[in-house]
Amino acid sequence: MPPATATTGHITRLPPLDNTYTSDPSLRRVLGWYLSPTHLPSLDSHLTTLGAEAISPQIKEWSADAERNQPYVKGFNVWGEQYGVDRLVTSEGWKQLTKWGARNGVVALGYEDTYGAQRRLAQYAVNYIYSPSSGLASCPISMTDGAALILSQEVARKNLPPDHAFSVTLRHLLSRGGGNDVDVDFWTSGQWMTERAGGSDVANTETWAVHSPISSSGGNGSGKNGDRAVEEGEYLIRGFKFFSSATDANVALLLAKTEPSGKLSTFLAPLRVSSPTTSASPTSSNPGSIPSDQGQVTNGVRIHRLKNKLGTKELPTAELILHDTRAHLVGDLNKGVSTIAPLLNITRTHTFIGSLGAWRRALSIAKGFARARTTVGEPLWLIPMHLRVLAEGEGRHRAAMEVGFFTIGVMGVVENGRSGDSGAKDNVKASHLPRPGAEATVVFRTLTALCKAVVSKMAIAGIQECQEALGGVGYMDEADEPEFNVSRILRNTLVNSIWEGTTNVLASEFVRFLVKGRGENLVVFAGWIERVLASIAPGEMRGVLLQAWTAWKERVSGAVAGGKVESVLADGRRAMFTLAWVLCGMLLVLDAQRDGDGVTGEIARRWVLHGEIGVGDTVWRDIVFPRKATAVDEESVRWDCRIVWGEELPAVAVGHRSMKL
Ligand SMILES: Cc1cc2nc3c(=O)[nH]c(=O)nc-3n(C[C@H](O)[C@H](O)[C@H](O)COP(=O)(O)OP(=O)(O)OC[C@H]3O[C@@H](n4cnc5c(N)ncnc54)[C@H](O)[C@@H]3O)c2cc1C
Repeated sequence: MPPATATTGHITRLPPLDNTYTSDPSLRRVLGWYLSPTHLPSLDSHLTTLGAEAISPQIKEWSADAERNQPYVKGFNVWGEQYGVDRLVTSEGWKQLTKWGARNGVVALGYEDTYGAQRRLAQYAVNYIYSPSSGLASCPISMTDGAALILSQEVARKNLPPDHAFSVTLRHLLSRGGGNDVDVDFWTSGQWMTERAGGSDVANTETWAVHSPISSSGGNGSGKNGDRAVEEGEYLIRGFKFFSSATDANVALLLAKTEPSGKLSTFLAPLRVSSPTTSASPTSSNPGSIPSDQGQVTNGVRIHRLKNKLGTKELPTAELILHDTRAHLVGDLNKGVSTIAPLLNITRTHTFIGSLGAWRRALSIAKGFARARTTVGEPLWLIPMHLRVLAEGEGRHRAAMEVGFFTIGVMGVVENGRSGDSGAKDNVKASHLPRPGAEATVVFRTLTALCKAVVSKMAIAGIQECQEALGGVGYMDEADEPEFNVSRILRNTLVNSIWEGTTNVLASEFVRFLVKGRGENLVVFAGWIERVLASIAPGEMRGVLLQAWTAWKERVSGAVAGGKVESVLADGRRAMFTLAWVLCGMLLVLDAQRDGDGVTGEIARRWVLHGEIGVGDTVWRDIVFPRKATAVDEESVRWDCRIVWGEELPAVAVGHRSMKL
């Protein structure tokens, strides 16, 4: 054999990624379970197109561009004159990926009638495919969705007219793009909560709002598309926001305190306003005199600096100085936290869906590599130990998909007051969804916190295994090749355990919510889960799940009854991860039971009976433990192959060189 040179010798050539929808049995399974037959064909067609686009040369190039050309800020021109708006320079790829999302309805689908009461399922299935190819544009999208929910609730609650600032903003947030006569431009929204004194504890906010309505208002609805109404908020805000990710957004929802109460309220502010020469609402602090190309100046928002981060480098995360930023009060005065709380349910849902999508992409890359690689003279995809690593990744991902998409199903029940479009007919298969009303609300609140925390942690561990599964190349970080860059996926997913509530904060919220008062929410939750557990066919798995749930409930309700809630709070992570284990197991068993799918049944057994896969170490070990010994035999290798590749183990596996001592 001739010696290798830089251009000759062995080259590992990976097959291109498959359509990210049609090659994803877990997604297709959960959609087949929760989506009604009326809606499935049309969503299937949308996702098939989107799944092909997600791996297309164009999207890859935009994604590479967003990573290569990271955002920067230019505040002054070459002569030293300050721009009217700090110029946040983002890549073309970043901008195009945002528009690609809007065209596909990443926000709009959750509010349109196309999928009726199942619009959230459709929307989040689209986001699951969109997110890993979006170059992190999915982050502003999530906050935009949250803002859309808050504003749509306000518009409905107060029956606001179409030219009101909230209605105008909402039309932009729900747009699919603009550039034609029927649609307005798509806007994104930021979310400014975190300050230097704390993100988890917003009570430490040092931003203040003063009521200062404009006397010579131009009136609602003036300007292009009525946008001027958005600029004419009745408050002026001053403060410093420590983390703003959607810094190129059009508007932001923010928290600020007001006198005399010193309590928090929620506000809506545009980032830019019409130039003072044309605006009826000049702010008092626009020192810059060079308007942007669109004739706009800043609404008192200056970028102090962009953050240097481990990952999410495509995303322009900044520290912002707010000086007389004109803003509208949203919701009731002094009720800032309860006003903005529904937004968190949305952004947390985007976070766990993003984690799931990223994890799936990493698994697909690792599987593509295993197909292409040979080691010790054997194809990597069939080496039993490697096969097991991949099977465990697939099993954990499937379990996380079960609880994630179930939670979105519950969101649909909460938002629509029913679980399907046409009554029972739609929901024959998904009778385990909670009942509309208090039950659905309690289950949803519990699960959004739980899924965001647990699924993000599982995804980080799962993606790290995928990185290692590629050997040294897995550790490479090639901006130009997003289709193979597991390092970028890992870096970007790491943040999912921090933003929108750290794991501790979510565990704390989870426990507090369930044990509140005399544990009323826990009683409601127990009513639901016990009904579902009873619907599982009698057998070993039902027995184990019932035993685990009963032990969990006794521990938590015992603490409530004994006035020892602090002890559960201190162990909140274990409480939350243990319940997550029960829920995943329950959903896996139900899923396997509904059509007898062998692979789902095997994953359920490995999860519930053998403890071979699970949510991680942070569980109550006297509740989550293996009930049956792990079988070390050829049959389990055969199941690994079915789980990973959906096919029977070829004969080559017997007598593997890698298995010989
Ligand atoms: C890349 C990136 C982008 C971001 N973008 C935005 C954005 O656009 N808008 C925005 O508002 N914020 C944003 N954030 C901020 C993020 O939401 C906060 O960093 C996060 O909520 C944590 O707040 P903190 O940094 O103040 O940490 P702290 O709240 O100080 O937390 C420090 C530690 O204390 C623990 N802890 C805190 N409270 C409790 C408790 N009650 N019980 C037990 N442990 C506790 C936490 O788990 C953590 O480990 C972003 C952050 C990052 C990294």
